[in-house]
Amino acid sequence: MAALKELDPSEHRVALVPGEVARLTAAGLRVLVEEGAGAAAWFPDADYAKAGASVASRARVLTDADVILTVGTVPPDVLAASRPGQTMVGTLQPLLAPQLAARLSERGVTALSMDGIPRTLGRAQAMDSLTSQASVAGYKAVLIAADHFGRYVPMLMTASGTTPPASILVLGVGVAGLQAIGTAHRLGAIVSAYDVRPETRDQVLSLGARFVTLRSVTAAVGEGGYARALTTDERLTLQGELDDHIAAHDIVITAAQVPGHRPPQLVSAAAIARMRPGSVIVDTAASELGGNVELSQPGETTVTPNGVTIIAPLNLPAMMATGASMAYSRNIARMLLSMVRDGKVVIDLDDEIQAAVVITHDGRVVNPAVNALLATPPEEVATQP
Ligand code: NAD
Repeated sequence: MAALKELDPSEHRVALVPGEVARLTAAGLRVLVEEGAGAAAWFPDADYAKAGASVASRARVLTDADVILTVGTVPPDVLAASRPGQTMVGTLQPLLAPQLAARLSERGVTALSMDGIPRTLGRAQAMDSLTSQASVAGYKAVLIAADHFGRYVPMLMTASGTTPPASILVLGVGVAGLQAIGTAHRLGAIVSAYDVRPETRDQVLSLGARFVTLRSVTAAVGEGGYARALTTDERLTLQGELDDHIAAHDIVITAAQVPGHRPPQLVSAAAIARMRPGSVIVDTAASELGGNVELSQPGETTVTPNGVTIIAPLNLPAMMATGASMAYSRNIARMLLSMVRDGKVVIDLDDEIQAAVVITHDGRVVNPAVNALLATPPEEVATQP
């Protein structure tokens, strides 16, 4: 089994940290790590060697390893060097990139995608990397916002005067939003939050924050505990109703997503125009497909003419790479250890977790949703609004 160095220079995380190596070797697995794989997350090669891993060149890792671990997707050089029977584990986002699944199956590679881990299955919680990484994102978003904010976040009474606490609004109360609320609260902010799933109200209140109740959209619950996409009318009235709340806050953290859809736009340009100079927005949903904030520029920090700083990071977990890698590595190790029999990773598609994460096996795409996408003509696969 081998962990690769990520090729994207902005991806500072690593799929395996030295602290997990002993657990894997104890299960009979031989662990290889590509030279420098953990360097950007502050895990030096020497620490992997001390933990019992062999540090090797990329070329040797690609030929020797039966199981290859990545944070992101399978890079082109790894696909090109792959051989039948090899297993790849990463965040492959097969619903966004079904063609990669097709290529991997043609090459006889078994592919496991960490974003397939069932979210609500108790025994899969320690393997849930969507949760662990979203949690980092929510935490980091608040720290970035505080860093760009020109005042103290908590109320401080000093000889030089009393500063009022910052007011922070969190839009979207999933894993990232909950962590953002907790972090903002611990920093001493006055926190409010809104989500279209009514069950989030009690979660918000239990964290000491205020729940924003809107008249326009009181419930938009989809499948599997996620939200559903709003209709255009719902979205516009929701945005209009949110405007007053947004304008009244110093900091807005957005963390709303709908699986299979573009992130919902919640913060309109009109709302931003009404915010006070010095206000800060962090759009954790920002991607090349858009974000929750109308004026977000993916990957950029911009300042509007009325003095509002809008930050749209593309990979928040990579901005806290040590902690994010430790959590991801634990997720991946827990999943693999549940699959090891006699020192080998054994695929069992009757297992509920494996049925969800295994995308290709034995020269076939085995995930039904990916197969359905591959059977759909390309013009119908455009991401839905
Ligand atoms: P997500 O990233 O898909 O979405 C983030 C949040 O955005 C969600 O709370 C969603 O309701 C909200 N949202 C979507 N559209 C919105 C809109 N128009 N306005 C406001 N908010 C909007 O969600 P996630 O963080 O991956 O978590 C989704 C669900 O999975 C939650 O129900 C969570 O509790 C559940 N979950 C459960 C477990 C577990 O039981 N172990 C683990 C992880 C997640």
